[in-house]
Amino acid sequence: LLDQVDDWNFPIFDLAEKCDGSILSHLTYRLFENTGLFDMFHIDRSRFICYFRALENGYRNIPYHNRIHASDVLHACYYLTTQPIPGFDHYNSLACKIPNKAKRDHVQGNMDDSHGSESFKKEADYGYLATALPALELVALYIAAAMHDYDHPGRTNAFLVATNATQAILYNDRSVLESHHAAAAWQLLLSKPEYNFLSGLDAAEYRRLRFLIIEAILATDLKRHFDILSVFNEKVSKETSGSGFDWGLESDRLLVVQMCIKLADINGPSKQRNLHETWTDRIAKEFYEQGNEEKSLGMPVSPYMDCNYPRLAALQESFISNLVAPLFRSYADAGLMPNVWQPDSKEMGNMSNKGGDSQPNALVKLLINYIEENYEYWVKRKEIEDGLVEPDGLERSRSATEDIIEEEELLSKENDIPSSPKEA
Ligand SMILES: [Zn+2]
Repeated sequence: LLDQVDDWNFPIFDLAEKCDGSILSHLTYRLFENTGLFDMFHIDRSRFICYFRALENGYRNIPYHNRIHASDVLHACYYLTTQPIPGFDHYNSLACKIPNKAKRDHVQGNMDDSHGSESFKKEADYGYLATALPALELVALYIAAAMHDYDHPGRTNAFLVATNATQAILYNDRSVLESHHAAAAWQLLLSKPEYNFLSGLDAAEYRRLRFLIIEAILATDLKRHFDILSVFNEKVSKETSGSGFDWGLESDRLLVVQMCIKLADINGPSKQRNLHETWTDRIAKEFYEQGNEEKSLGMPVSPYMDCNYPRLAALQESFISNLVAPLFRSYADAGLMPNVWQPDSKEMGNMSNKGGDSQPNALVKLLINYIEENYEYWVKRKEIEDGLVEPDGLERSRSATEDIIEEEELLSKENDIPSSPKEA
């Protein structure tokens, strides 16, 4: 199964079953091996294994924010950094440490085998994000992904704040969970000498690595989503003649790393349906557990967390149109999304083609296409969920109760951004 890591739709749940609790350590080991990071940083492999075993054991057995999710986010970060990006063009003298093995494999696997036409070869100038990042930043991204939800209690930041949880007090209600994941994972690393696989780094490398990992983990707080996204958009926007990325600037590269882990963290709707639905069922289960606790504490039940009033399709529709699609679109528009050119096809992904500029060969926007398909799916499911349409497609008359519920929904939705992936 680990041979399929170059597949976006990596069968993560099959691997979880096979690994029996040690999926995160297995996957991390494999990806460090693939990218040559063990040798590059003189990492002691037995300490590495000890630490990642302890780390995965610190992930709780909860439906969503468990070690499988951490592995999934790590896999997505790996994919985004090591898969070919059409037209990705940069010159960066810092990128002396290229994840050699992975790069070689991809170039041969994807460019020679599947596409043979002459026109393709001319346009197929692929690049790799991993070559634009110094290896220390790449290793920080991967470690951050593995650490990023460590010891997650299966409750939201809002819940921890509302209930005066110890960690909410400790972190002054700010990025409570994310602060805890980062701090606790570092505490674990330093708790025993046999965990500290980073002891081969010099002091400056260690400080920088620690900074980068913390920044990446804290970026996964969705409360910062629109701030990070707007800084990113500002930088790459053609309309405001944004200066674009300066790959020689640490702050620019950090922004890309943050976007990368954010994207990986909410990648579910960009996967094929079975994976996406499994993740959806899991987050719903975790939400309902929180909803039940809220009820038992006499608190108002948070939106989408009442198991007696499941609104899974509404949740996904809103989640995709407000968060996932705009994030993926910005990332793709910035030219950072792994994709493949497909010669002789008129089919164009229409989501991020807002400028209407035509390209000689179609770019197969794999991930964006999945988002579109999944979005359409939830829109249809939502119609059924809303009771406007019966499963057989017939409209039925609405009751007064339903109207009241809808009114309440509209009121509670006033803060939602009314956009769909196609409009925005
Ligand atoms: Zn996460």
